[in-house]
Amino acid sequence: MNLLKQFINNTWVESSSAQHLEYYNPYTEQVLGVVSECSTDDVNRAVQAAVKALPHWRCLSSQARGHYLSCFADFLEAHKSRLVREVVQNNGKRLLEAEMDIDDAISCYRYYAEVSATLEDEQSIHHPSYSITRCYEPLGVVAIITPWNFPLVTSAWKIAPALLAGCTLVFKPSEVVPLPEQSLAQAAIEMGLPEGVFNLVNGGASTGVALTSHPDVNKISFTGSNSTGSAVMRMAAKDVKDLTLELGGKSPILIFPDVSLEAAVEAVVSGICFNAGQMCSATSRLVVHKDIEEALYDRLSNAIAQISLGDPFNQSTGMGPLTHVKQLEQVNRYLSLAKQEGLEGLTCNQVAQRPSTGYFVRPHVFRNVPRSSCLWQEEIFGPILCTQSFRNDEEALFIANDHPFALAATVICEDKEKARDIAKRLQAGTVWFNTEQVVLPQTSWGGFKHSGIGRELGPFGLDAYRGVKHVMGPLI
Ligand code: NAD
Repeated sequence: MNLLKQFINNTWVESSSAQHLEYYNPYTEQVLGVVSECSTDDVNRAVQAAVKALPHWRCLSSQARGHYLSCFADFLEAHKSRLVREVVQNNGKRLLEAEMDIDDAISCYRYYAEVSATLEDEQSIHHPSYSITRCYEPLGVVAIITPWNFPLVTSAWKIAPALLAGCTLVFKPSEVVPLPEQSLAQAAIEMGLPEGVFNLVNGGASTGVALTSHPDVNKISFTGSNSTGSAVMRMAAKDVKDLTLELGGKSPILIFPDVSLEAAVEAVVSGICFNAGQMCSATSRLVVHKDIEEALYDRLSNAIAQISLGDPFNQSTGMGPLTHVKQLEQVNRYLSLAKQEGLEGLTCNQVAQRPSTGYFVRPHVFRNVPRSSCLWQEEIFGPILCTQSFRNDEEALFIANDHPFALAATVICEDKEKARDIAKRLQAGTVWFNTEQVVLPQTSWGGFKHSGIGRELGPFGLDAYRGVKHVMGPLI
């Protein structure tokens, strides 16, 4: 059985703990391997390695650090086919989706490598009476904790800017999908990254707690659920650690009456079925104009009926399994609640058979879901869509914005100017109009309200790992 160890000071080491956690192939339901669950001692060793590496790493020029980011990108490119296979095996997402993930991770490392070429470590501020220098300082040792839905991508959004800023780090990938991330350690060895700059510990919640509570960790960058995010925030408060939280979403997709129904249905289906709906940005609330409501539902039912569930390695598969059995249980719990609440489901006469193994769930659509329903309010993290209809723009905006989450949104409207105007009035960190969900490293990622604190990607992602300092004195 494949046992994943810890990576500390550029060396694979055994854990001091005898606890092991199994990780699975969600299509075959077979165990793929085990990770040893890092103990507090293991975490301490990893943090001390990062502390020791910090003075040298932070003094390198941004350009020198940027060189290593190019090496991460080169490594991912060179090993892409194996990594895609590992993502499909451990996460269950379709081949095409896994390929997109690796490409996204590569473009993030490349983007920050390019940023490094022109990054100024300090600037002179002109003033008639004082000599002023503005310097950017790394925050120190960073704890990076990620979920299981976009392995290698979510970590790239944190690791690349943290390293560029001059921080050293300890990374804890999700215990559910740990396999693809282990290659980052191999990359560190091959590129000759200085020892202790990048450390990786495996494990679940207890390892996460050991990491977030460690007094020598200066910053926590966390992506995951709201309940864990709150626990992490409480830990950070104790030592006043800096914090980035990327949490849940329940994003709206607004469909206006001037659209082509075909394009609208495509946007709705991909917004809720991509990655089997396991996306923080999934557009799981459909807000559709009354005039086209019935016509849209007709087409939507047909489109959903055509989605075939199957082997994620098979090119013709429309949707893979959910990533783990607990997620399947969670989605099924919401389907039971929908029944109890008497919600009206769209009839989608699916033709495809359910495979004999795998954590599969068919896409479901519930129409006219009351806004008080927990299916409308809560993040389900699966292919479950709730709908409401509107009569005018103000009502559409009210329905969309009247929600605790504010991560992303989509507007589909033929009139491009109106689409952009509506997009600007939506409460969300990212709003797409008349386009698929695309996240570019030049922009930003993060939400308002319960969706988190801070932004990743772009210059904002870099600033999340460095602080500004001004050095002032008489004119020189
Ligand atoms: P989760 O909160 O269960 O776990 C996330 C990570 O935290 C895992 O590595 C886990 O081991 C670790 N962890 C668990 N308990 C911990 C604790 N007490 N202290 C420290 N670490 C702890 O989330 P998940 O089920 O892995 O992922 C799904 C969630 O992630 C969804 O809610 C989704 O919306 C969210 N998510 C958000 C974004 C975003 O960008 N906003 C992106 C992807 C996923």
